[in-house]
Parts: sequence; structure tokens; C-alpha cells
Amino acid sequence: MGLLTGKIAVVTGAASPRGLGKATAKLFAEHGATVVITDLDAAQAQAAADDLPGEGHMGMACNVTDKEACFATAAAVIEKLGAVDILVNNAGITQPLKIMEIAPENYDAVTDVNLRGTLYMTQALIPHWRERQTGSVVNMSSVSAQRGGGIFGGPHYSAAKAGVLGLTKAVARELAPDGVRVNAICPGFIATDITAGKLTDEMRAQVLAGIPMGRAGTADDVAGCALFLASDLSSYCTGTEVDVNGGSLIH
Ligand code: NAD
Repeated sequence: MGLLTGKIAVVTGAASPRGLGKATAKLFAEHGATVVITDLDAAQAQAAADDLPGEGHMGMACNVTDKEACFATAAAVIEKLGAVDILVNNAGITQPLKIMEIAPENYDAVTDVNLRGTLYMTQALIPHWRERQTGSVVNMSSVSAQRGGGIFGGPHYSAAKAGVLGLTKAVARELAPDGVRVNAICPGFIATDITAGKLTDEMRAQVLAGIPMGRAGTADDVAGCALFLASDLSSYCTGTEVDVNGGSLIH
């Protein structure tokens, strides 16, 4: 029996074919969950949902920086599927900027998607979870939050992902009496499309040299951790940050 049989999961930013969200959605579906993939583009989200194993998955457009869109998405999913058990706040963007290169629009873009989006999508489901006294949230932070960048994203990305950790812990504390668990994953260097071809061979070699396991992570490495945190396997874990980084930060 799957670890998520009968569960309904929403995964944001999960249309990217080689991304962490899609790999997570696929593993959840393999474990029996009905999965709602949300992303900026409705057709891409639907195509990703259609690609998942099993029946009944949905794809929807939802810009996580838009509070109304997040609340409308949550309401639509609850109406169509009856409930939401799991939320993975995966949508994120990054930019390889140095501190003095960060313009106001860079700051806004990166903090809005990574941090504001995580807040809004979580808020959208809290009334539902308070009613049901159950829920599990998995937030995608980053090793950049813990070690101060050094991979690809600039200081504004590190700050946004550190914000995600603070938000995770504070919301975990506030929602624990309601039976809702909130945890974060801190992936290290994972091979996906988020760097949009801007990662040079030199940068790659430098990053790999700092990874004791000697390889980049895969999206499946992160999905496995998301499955653990989303499922009842982690029933006494809340407010945790779990490293998936090949040993690149050991603390
Ligand atoms: P990706 O670029 O493959 O996927 C990110 C997805 O988010 C895309 O499908 C994109 O369309 C979507 N998105 C962007 N803005 C959005 C918005 N406003 N609303 C909804 N969706 C939006 O990236 P990925 O590597 O799979 O990253 C997934 C998450 O993991 C991100 O939060 C990222 O910061 C984090 N992360 C990635 C790595 C890595 O090495 N790949 C490391 C640490 C953390």
C-alpha cells in the first residue's frame, strides 16, 4: 500500500518537467495520492498532471504571488476533490546576482515567489485544515539559506529562502495545536532547469568540489524527502529543516 493512499496533495510550481515539484508530484502519485499540480501556465500544469501515474490528478494555473489566486485555487480544489491533506510550496525562482547588483525589481521578484508565495498558499489552506484538524506542509528552502549562498542564487535568494525557514518554524509552532505539521527541505545542488543554462562549467566544477558525495543531487533525491515529510512516517516532526545536499553542509 502506498504511503499516501487516499491523500490529496497540492504541489506548486510543479509543471517544470525536470523540476523538484514534478518529481515530488510523481512520487506522491506512485504512493497513491491524488495530486494537483499548479504553475503559472494552465496548459503546462495540465500536461504535467496528465503525465502522472494513476487517475484524477489536476493541473491548474496559480501565480503564488497573487493572494486571491492562491485562495481561489484552494477553494476550487476543495470543491472538486473534497479536501487537501498536503501542500508542497515548491514554486521558486533564483538569480545569480552579487549584492550591489540587486535592483528593487530583483528583490521583489525573488522574495515574492519564494517567500510571499509560500505564505499565501499556506494561508489559503489554513481555515480548511483548522476545520479538519489535520494537514502537512512541505516548504522548499535551500542550502543557500543556511550557508549564505555560494551555489548560484544571490544574497536576495539566500534571504528569501532563510525567510522560508523562519516562516516554516513559526507556522509549525502556531499550527501544531491544530494537528498541522510544517517542515522544510533544504536541497543542495540539484540538477534541474532553475539555473536556466546560466551555470558555467567553472561554477559547476567549483560546486561539485564542495560536495563530499561528489555528485549533484537528483530531483528524485528531493522527492523522497518530501514524501517522508508529507506522509505519516514523519508524524512527530514539525518545524524541522531537512538537508538533502550530499554532505555539502554538515552541521
Ligand atoms: P524549476 O525552475 O525547474 O521549477 C520551478 C517552477 O516554479 C517552474 O515550473 C516555474 O514556472 C514555477 N514558478 C515560478 N514562478 C512562479 C509563480 N509566481 N507562481 C507559480 N509557479 C511559479 O526549479 P527547481 O530546481 O525544480 O526548483 C524548485 C524549488 O526548489 C524552488 O523553490 C527552488 O528555489 C528550490 N531549490 C532548488 C535547488 C536546485 O538546485 N535545483 C536547490 C535548492 C532549492
